[in-house]
Amino acid sequence: MIHVEGISKTFAGGFQALKSVDLEIRRGEIFALLGPNGAGKTTLISVICGLVNASAGRVLVDGHDNVRDYRAARQLIGLVPQELTNEAFTTVWDTVTFSRGLFGKPKDPAHIEKVLRALTLWEKRDNRLLELSGGMKRRVLIAKALAHEPLVLFLDEPTAGVDVELRREMWEVVRELRHQGVTIILTTHYIEEAEEMADRIGVIRRGEIVLVEEKAALIHKLGSKELTLHLHEPL
Ligand code: ADP
Repeated sequence: MIHVEGISKTFAGGFQALKSVDLEIRRGEIFALLGPNGAGKTTLISVICGLVNASAGRVLVDGHDNVRDYRAARQLIGLVPQELTNEAFTTVWDTVTFSRGLFGKPKDPAHIEKVLRALTLWEKRDNRLLELSGGMKRRVLIAKALAHEPLVLFLDEPTAGVDVELRREMWEVVRELRHQGVTIILTTHYIEEAEEMADRIGVIRRGEIVLVEEKAALIHKLGSKELTLHLHEPL
């Protein structure tokens, strides 16, 4: 579904955040990109989604080059950021409908209803965002990202800063989406989250993918302790 080939990113000022990253994401899997803060997770996601230009390399999204064929590639991607931006006075329904419109897709109330029901937001459709709980706001972020019917969903640190109960709720939502056939890529610095959710795990450190494995094989091979070391060694 996603083919990442030789992606490097050097920011203005000379800092190299990504160093020749190669990665394949399979159709229908949940892939966890695991790494400490500052490892390059958000930068890699931003490059794959075409929001940040790479310094070298290329990304194909279902065969579409994400720079030369940006519109086609971007249509296939839903991106769930960490926080809602300033839409406090808009209703859930309007927020999600507007997101679909941004992709130039025709209105489809039946699809919006399906998304809101899947995320148990249907009863809240006429509420303004400022009236929602933290968990509901997180679900609105996902609903927005699904509004244009993407095949791939990126979740950037979906449970950063949320309590245990809400974390479990988010995991359930993500599993259900995969069940419906959406390919999922999530970034996390919680090893438990990768263990809990992923089919495969990629570990990124200092802008390099240091390993990619089936979750079971990885846990078996390294044991969580060594994996934890990867995550807590100083950058
Ligand atoms: P992660 O998501 O794994 O926490 P990021 O991708 O956000 O890591 O950041 C990777 C590194 O790149 C960090 O050292 C960060 O400071 C640096 N970085 C991120 N964005 C920029 C930018 N726009 N300009 C310069 N450096 C940046």
